Amino acid sequence: MPLRSSRAEILSVAADLLARIDARRPSGRGDDQLLVRARQLSADHLDGVAQPESVSWSSRQRSRWGSCTTIDGTIRLSDRLRDVPDFVLDYVLLHELAHLVIPHHGADFDRLLIGYPLAERAEGFLRGLDHAAAFGTPSRPAD
Ligand SMILES: [Zn+2]
Repeated sequence: MPLRSSRAEILSVAADLLARIDARRPSGRGDDQLLVRARQLSADHLDGVAQPESVSWSSRQRSRWGSCTTIDGTIRLSDRLRDVPDFVLDYVLLHELAHLVIPHHGADFDRLLIGYPLAERAEGFLRGLDHAAAFGTPSRPAD
């Protein structure tokens, strides 16, 4: 960007860049895209052993982030997760994928998920979301 660029020129270039970034983001979080994502996560982190048949959003899960039905490979995600960062969504998806293989929590279950490097950060993010839901968004200190 030339130093002499006007404010309008700079804003126009910035808007163009943002639009291009947006276009490249795997933005879709529709049910079909969730299923593609879940299958990819299974391949990347679970050696493909988890085979989901469908993934969908649910507005009826207020106290859980996700759930699954092993018998038909169905995963449901709370729509409270619609706007969380990808690594958090992936963490919850992986957890449910692991349940398709091992229904209950325990050492075997934990071993399945050991390969996901951002688990602890995602867990912290979810606790923060819960906290904000329970106590409201903390107000910013005065400037
Ligand atoms: Zn679980």
